[in-house]
Amino acid sequence: METESLKDRMLHIAQIGQEADGSISRVFGSDAYEEAAKEMQAYMQASGMESYIDSVGNVHGIYRCRQEHAKEILIASHLDTVLHGGVFDGLLGVMAGIECVRRLQEEGRELFVDVHVIATNGEEGNELGGTFGGRAMMGMLPETAAFYALAEKYGYTKEKLAQALYDTSRCMCYLELHIEQGNLLEKEHRQIGVVTGIVGLERYNVTIDGQSNHAGTTMMEYRDDALVKAGKFITAMDQKAREIGDRLVCTCSRLSVEPNVLAVINRQVSMVLECRNQKKERMRELIRAAEELLEKLHGTIGCLVQKDPVDCDPKIVQTMEGICRERKIAYQDMPSGATHDGNSFAKKMPIGMLFVPSKNGLSHCKEEATDWDDIALGISVLYETLLRLGQAE
Ligand SMILES: [Zn+2]
Repeated sequence: METESLKDRMLHIAQIGQEADGSISRVFGSDAYEEAAKEMQAYMQASGMESYIDSVGNVHGIYRCRQEHAKEILIASHLDTVLHGGVFDGLLGVMAGIECVRRLQEEGRELFVDVHVIATNGEEGNELGGTFGGRAMMGMLPETAAFYALAEKYGYTKEKLAQALYDTSRCMCYLELHIEQGNLLEKEHRQIGVVTGIVGLERYNVTIDGQSNHAGTTMMEYRDDALVKAGKFITAMDQKAREIGDRLVCTCSRLSVEPNVLAVINRQVSMVLECRNQKKERMRELIRAAEELLEKLHGTIGCLVQKDPVDCDPKIVQTMEGICRERKIAYQDMPSGATHDGNSFAKKMPIGMLFVPSKNGLSHCKEEATDWDDIALGISVLYETLLRLGQAE
């Protein structure tokens, strides 16, 4: 494995959109993204692939096999970053796909499938919603006037959005190598994470009402302080999530406190309650507890986002585990706590994902790092997975 040149190529792309502090801002809709997309297309072409940028900014590279009417295996990840992000998130998975194609040629291997590498656009949170490029390909964008108006701001007309729809009839599966973005692998001293699924995510708008009054003259027993009730609610949700366990996580954020001035008891607090888990039932349990408590606190709850959990394909998971066992690689089965493009592709085809360790569990920041030896290992497992899936008929 030529990790040196892979490293050079990655760092070359990563410098596009690099900020003075060393972080990388290749965000959705930016000039840096467009420049990186063109650069990526050139890399794909130089690596022996047909390449094009689709109508929503996803970069495609196709390496065809000699079979007629062959199926194809997608290897994808995202090319955009968050604002002030790092080198490895997303970019690693795209470069890994191209590296697999390079190795196929170097080793003179013939597959029964085409290999289709995709660098997706707008995977990170953005105004049009995260996993934008992947959802456009899978026909999952909202078909509302409001969304079309918003998309126009970025130059994506209704026609362009429709053009991005991808015919999945030849797709055998979707594979992705990604950094873990957590510290489980590092803590457990594992080099590879075999992803079993991507957790679901639910977000709710919570509003708690109280009564504003003079903060000096209103004795404690006569108060109905919305902020105090909000505090109880947040603590109760934190406790309930721990009680339910099974890797359920819950977070309250975006607090807005009214009137939030000195000498006045607060009359209303609104916030967003978010929970994530691989099992929908665990999230239901938490939200039921939230509803019960809010009834007592004079609060309301309304759903903002509901993304169902996604399971990785058991056969692909077994293939990846088998490779790790045979090669005596320390691996760990684990769900992904973060959303990925795989969420969208899973609606249409089997998916499989691999994680490599994130140093100190950090990501979405300039300190984001993965050991180059771990990267080489991750790519070799991805490559072996591709060979096993692509050579079997
Ligand atoms: Zn990512």
